[in-house]
Amino acid sequence: MQQQPYLDELAQIIATGGADLQSRTLCEVQCLGQRMPIQAVFMGNPDPSLPAVGFFGGFHGLERIGAEVVLAYLRNLTSRLKWDTTLHKQLESVRLVFMPLVNPGGIQLGTRANPNGVDLMRNAPVESLEKVPWLIGGQRHGPQLPWFRGAAGQPMERENQAVSEIFETELLPRRFSLTVDCHSGFGVKDRIWFPYAHTRIPIEHLAEMHALKELLQETLCNYRYIFEPQSRQYLAHGDLWDHLYLSSVAQTDHVFMPMTLEMGSWTWVKKNPRQFFSLLGMFNPLIEHRQQRVLRRHLPLLEFFVRAAISHERWLPHGPERPPHRLQAMAHWYPDQAAGEAL
Ligand SMILES: [Zn+2]
Repeated sequence: MQQQPYLDELAQIIATGGADLQSRTLCEVQCLGQRMPIQAVFMGNPDPSLPAVGFFGGFHGLERIGAEVVLAYLRNLTSRLKWDTTLHKQLESVRLVFMPLVNPGGIQLGTRANPNGVDLMRNAPVESLEKVPWLIGGQRHGPQLPWFRGAAGQPMERENQAVSEIFETELLPRRFSLTVDCHSGFGVKDRIWFPYAHTRIPIEHLAEMHALKELLQETLCNYRYIFEPQSRQYLAHGDLWDHLYLSSVAQTDHVFMPMTLEMGSWTWVKKNPRQFFSLLGMFNPLIEHRQQRVLRRHLPLLEFFVRAAISHERWLPHGPERPPHRLQAMAHWYPDQAAGEAL
């Protein structure tokens, strides 16, 4: 069987990173009789008193551009390690963690789910108490249908356990951390989603999310990201980021801000209608120059998140700065609930 090119690329990046980059194989998964590693790559200062940023891609095997964006950023940083003093200065004040290929089996098979037929973003132990859309919100009928959550009562799939391990060892212990998980396929616009996916109740750190949204809009003013809670689009059971965020709030007073970048792939389809006939094409730009443009377009965003994490003390609202942010956030994202809260 053909070796997966993305795993080769990751191995190459790790080999060129030298002493400034560490990597670890968290576990292996079986796919078509082949063992595939799930790897994490680390860069920067391991001191737990410093902030951390995690970059994730390839949760959904079909959405290859998500994995490619994370690999492109990792390659960019790795090549700069050789000469860029500014990058080395940056890395003294932050820890960076990368998992570009969370679901290598799904990437190999060209499926959204992992090789067990489980949708990793429906697999966490989080139940929505509100009405979720049929199928897409997660289902327990079986892997023959999409958005399968896995059998009830089973532990999470190995891929999700690997991500949880990174969360617990690298992100949860820090006073400030954020994550960016890269996907594609929802609508025509590029969206940044934050929890919750399982409920329309706002998260604890709504003020912080609002401050980050304002910072992003001011800094990348020529970009058009729609920044919103996922629940504004649809509700789902089993979202892993909801699960990890809830466990961070339950265990610590730390600020953990998980975000999902949903690259709007339907624009690519509009420009090249033949993609309608290709499942991979629905979720990925097929023409090379378009792919290059997508990779280029999102690198400033990933760089922005690293800088925002390093400088979080300068923009994170504290004490009396929080209520105004929360009020604005409620009016902006939760207008139905805002009136009740202001009374
Ligand atoms: Zn996805």
